[in-house]
Parts: sequence; C-alpha cells; structure tokens
Amino acid sequence: MQKIQMVDLQSQYQAIKQDIDKGIEEVMSTASFIKGKKVSDFQEHLEAYLGVKHVIPVGNGTDALMIALMGLGLQPGDEVITPTFTFIATAEVAAVLHLTPVLVDVDKDTFNMTAEAVGKAITPRTKAIVPVHLFGQCAEMEGIMQIAKEKGIYVVEDACQAINATYTFSDGKAEKAGCIGHIGCTSFFPSKNLGCYGDGGAIFTNDDELASKMRALANHGMVVRYHHDMIGVNSRLDSIQAAVLDAKLPHLDEYTHRRQKAAAYYDKGFADNEHIKIPARSKQSEHVFHQYTLQIIDKDRDKLREQLQEKGIPAMIYYPIPIHLQKAFANLQYKEGDFPNAEQLARTVLSLPMHTELTKEQQDYIIDTINALTKE
Ligand SMILES: *Cc1c(COP(=O)(O)O)cnc(C)c1O
Repeated sequence: MQKIQMVDLQSQYQAIKQDIDKGIEEVMSTASFIKGKKVSDFQEHLEAYLGVKHVIPVGNGTDALMIALMGLGLQPGDEVITPTFTFIATAEVAAVLHLTPVLVDVDKDTFNMTAEAVGKAITPRTKAIVPVHLFGQCAEMEGIMQIAKEKGIYVVEDACQAINATYTFSDGKAEKAGCIGHIGCTSFFPSKNLGCYGDGGAIFTNDDELASKMRALANHGMVVRYHHDMIGVNSRLDSIQAAVLDAKLPHLDEYTHRRQKAAAYYDKGFADNEHIKIPARSKQSEHVFHQYTLQIIDKDRDKLREQLQEKGIPAMIYYPIPIHLQKAFANLQYKEGDFPNAEQLARTVLSLPMHTELTKEQQDYIIDTINALTKE
C-alpha cells in the first residue's frame, strides 16, 4: 500500500502531467510571466464554469478577502461579522484594515456560522458579514442573505475551502459557493480543492462597479497606467500558476466527485462507531469535502491522533484554537466560554486524509485502524 498522506499532490500531478507541463511550457516560451494570456484564459474559463460575471485573479486567498473588504469602502471601526471557528485569515484581514471583527459561534454539527447567530450580532455599526464555508460546505446563505438585504449590509463569502459546492435556495434556484453574496473569495493554495503549485486566489462578483474597483485595488489602485486613483496593493495570480489552474479546471468536477465518494466510504466505515461523529450534511448545500472532519466522542482525541501517526495515518486538527482565544485577538477581549460550540469542536475535531487519489485499500486501513483504536 502506498504511504498515506493528508493530501497527495504528487500522484494527482502524475495523472495530468502532460497537460500541466504543456501549459507551463507555453508560459516559458512566451516569457509572459505576469498578466499573460494564461491568466485571462483561466479567468474566462472560471467565469464560465462558475456562472459568475467577474473573476478577479489575485495573489492568494487572504489577499482576496482583504481586497474584497477594501472594495466595499469600509471605515476603521466598522464591524464585520465572522465565525470564530475558521482559519485566521478571515478575521485577520478585517483587523489589518482596522475594522472590528465581531465573532459568532458556529453550529456544532455543520461547523458553520448560522443565520440566527448573525442576526443576533448585528449592530448599527455592522457593515459586512463574512460567512466561511468551512471544510467545503456552505453556511446558511439563504438566511444570511435575507438579513443582509433587510439591513443593507454586504456579504463577502470566504469560499476558500468550498469551490464548486452548489447551494440550493428554497425556491429551487442554485448557485455556486462564492457566487451568492456581493463578493466571494477563494484560494488556490496547493492543497485546496482547486490548487495551483504556489500561491494563488480569486475574487468573484456579479457587480460591475465592485469588479472594476477591486481589479484596480489589486493593481496599485491603477486604472490608467501610472494614474493611481486610490490606495491599492500588488496582488496578482502569475501566469505559471494560471497555466496549472487552467489545466486542472476541466478535472474539477471529477475531483469533487472523488472527494465525495471517499467521504461516503468513510461515512459507511464509521456508521456503527459510537465514538465517532461523521460530518453532518446541510440540507441546502452540497459538501465538496475540502476536509473530512470527525468529532471524537468520549475518547482522547489527541491520544488517538498520536496512535494513528504511529500506524502511518496522518490526521490533522483544524482548528485547535478558535479565533476568539487567539493571542493576536486579545484586544477584542473575548474569553473562554464565550463560544461553547467552537471551543468544544476545537477539542474534539479530527480531519482524516482527504484527496482525489485516496484508494479503497488506504481507506479500509484508516477505517479499520480508527475503529479498532476507539473500541479498545
Ligand atoms: C486557505 C484559506 C484562506 C487563505 O487562503 P491563502 O491562499 O492561504 O491566503 C482563507 N480562509 C480560509 C477558510 C482558508 O481555508
């Protein structure tokens, strides 16, 4: 059996090596490394794939979130509602822009911020809501969009882990993650569901005005060359990364399907284990399984993780410390006990190997080992 990895980018590359190498060679032969044709090609292909009017390629997912908040023209002290159980970037960018992150707890089954929690956190200073579609499943976008509309607040989706997840509204209308709010952000970090071979990210929007503003913000606030209309940043997806992504995009449906198949296989394997809670599925969102995350019930999660390590099974804790207990956010003056669901999840979650190249043999070994260790 091949060594088990959290993510197997090497085997995935080998399977489509010809297409990737051809794309990279094209960039090398034209030497058009920045803003080349590959970038605009990929942008157009992704717009068509997601059914969104504008894709703005940027340097990484964190920049995407930051440029999105800059594009909304928020002022220091404006409040941005975001979940406490997420990767640091979501709250970090708000703080970098001197905005005030207002954290909310998450649902203990879906790991996502609920519309109800958002509703309770709204104040007259709330200017934006940043839901995170954690582990590949959308937050309650229908309720969140409704609140945003009533209150005249922007919604910026952190879809860094959820590209290609379809969300279905109660009227039957379906949209892709990141294309529901006013702005959506994604990351092409190598291990993400659509990953490049370095850093990369993109912003999505259907709003023409926001699109041109964010495009300028990502390029030094420049619309006409060397005429800088606003203070911006330098954040670009380079042509080599775009070539990798353009070669991988036609495989994204298949990759998504393989993750879902692997998840279903894990589900079945743990169905009779009372110490394992498998990831809950939301009614309205498809799950694209950026992570397959268990909750370990009445067993020592950290000990289990060590035992798995010894048996050649990597497992990760996303995330061990919620945002409200991070040192960097001490100034927000949250304390232990403020968000009990997130705190409990931080103690109990365990993410298993999840990628497009997992074999049945590997999964059987992972399932059997976990079941044996938790039933001891
Ligand atoms: C990966 C990720 C980001 C940041 O993306 P980078 O490309 O690493 O900057 C932000 N939010 C979430 C939820 C992520 O998973």
